[in-house]
Amino acid sequence: MCGVYGVKNAALCLYRSLFSLQHRGQEGAGMVVSDGSRIRTCKGSGLVSDVFSRATLDNLTGYMGIGHVRYSTTGSPRPENVQPLVVECVDGVWAVAHNGNLVNAANLRQMYQESGSIFQTSTDSEILLHLLADPMYRHRPGRVCRALSELEGSFSFVLMTVDCIMAARDRFGFRPLSLGRLGTGYVVASETCALAQVGAVYERDIEPGELLVIDSSGLHSHVFAERQGASFSHCVFELVYFARPDSQVFGECVHNVRVEYGRRLAREHPAAADIVIGVPDSGSLAALGFAHESGIPLDYGFIRNHYIGRTFIMPEESGRAEGVDLKIAVVPHVVRGKRVVVVDDSIVRGTTARRRVAALREAGAKEIHMRVSCPPTVFPCFFGIDFPTKDELIASRKSIEEIRDFLKVDSLGYLSCENLLAPLRRRADYCVACFTGNYSVDISAMTGKKALELFPRESVLID
Ligand code: SF4
Repeated sequence: MCGVYGVKNAALCLYRSLFSLQHRGQEGAGMVVSDGSRIRTCKGSGLVSDVFSRATLDNLTGYMGIGHVRYSTTGSPRPENVQPLVVECVDGVWAVAHNGNLVNAANLRQMYQESGSIFQTSTDSEILLHLLADPMYRHRPGRVCRALSELEGSFSFVLMTVDCIMAARDRFGFRPLSLGRLGTGYVVASETCALAQVGAVYERDIEPGELLVIDSSGLHSHVFAERQGASFSHCVFELVYFARPDSQVFGECVHNVRVEYGRRLAREHPAAADIVIGVPDSGSLAALGFAHESGIPLDYGFIRNHYIGRTFIMPEESGRAEGVDLKIAVVPHVVRGKRVVVVDDSIVRGTTARRRVAALREAGAKEIHMRVSCPPTVFPCFFGIDFPTKDELIASRKSIEEIRDFLKVDSLGYLSCENLLAPLRRRADYCVACFTGNYSVDISAMTGKKALELFPRESVLID
């Protein structure tokens, strides 16, 4: 998710930013661009490179815009759900793009539907547009702040009207959102790697509870939610898995944190082995740290095919299973006859890890010691990471010894929660709910991923 203001070719700038954010979602991509008087939109299913052509970008003229890559945590992968969502209100066009999960979206949606509102998508994000269009907010000062303050859960938003862009982050700061300077213009993006991609200089993060408005008169910061309680709830899984290693997230260098997790894992769960291999890509840096700390040589026992997506964020189970078979191959000469430490970033259902272990055995690995750079994932996420239900999470049903047995590895060790937080500068400011079950937001109103699809329907695109 990104936004730009005051740049010469907004569409090209958004394209480059989205390209570097592709790891955050691969189901769809879109952008909305304005020249100050007219708004132009392009979006579709698939990767950034599938959706935008040179000719499309040339037609998206303007000096400001917002863009999004979709990774669904509510709603199916149907085309209407691709963002930015664009609507026409009585006072003009609004566009919105969202990362996260709104835990009260179903309740708010039902309230609006009962009073006659029509929804176009099955995403939680659309509710913000209804709040903005509601006369209760529309005619009052601080309209956007008031609308945002109605939302509960995790959100980083970029919004746009014909002549300004806005960026907002929920009061817990679950998802990252950063501001950069590009010449006399501005760029906001989910990760700093997108700022670097377009040559923008990182300025600061959007603060939790802040709405930042960028228009011809400059930057205007507003507070829509005061800090409550002692701490924030930054998603620690961004550091473990989700963010790109060249990004700075929540003030931490993702690369360094992952290497440090590997070092701590080696101290917490040492293994007598001949080589250390990482599961690419997000296990690779923890494997490097494990190798440095243990003195066991690092090798490349897995080869990843980079031409298909990250299986974890494929929406359907069938896609996930097929993707794994295509995605990672064992290098037999590296592992044959060896005692191997395999470092992965997480184990969710366990089926993928089990398949990889079987492939290593088939290739001749003598012993396999699995090490995981986060604690057992016992609880689902309701704040923007698409974990399966609790029953599907292997660690919610089995003890560590039972998981070891299921995976068919010689030993298994997870990083402790203490070591997960220890290297972080503001360790009290992190969400670790998927490991502990301590959610910082009331999730009782939260429903399933497709709960907003009361009347399932299909869209058929005709060329
Ligand atoms: S529950 Fe886990 S994945 Fe979800 S926001 Fe918290 S730390 Fe991140």
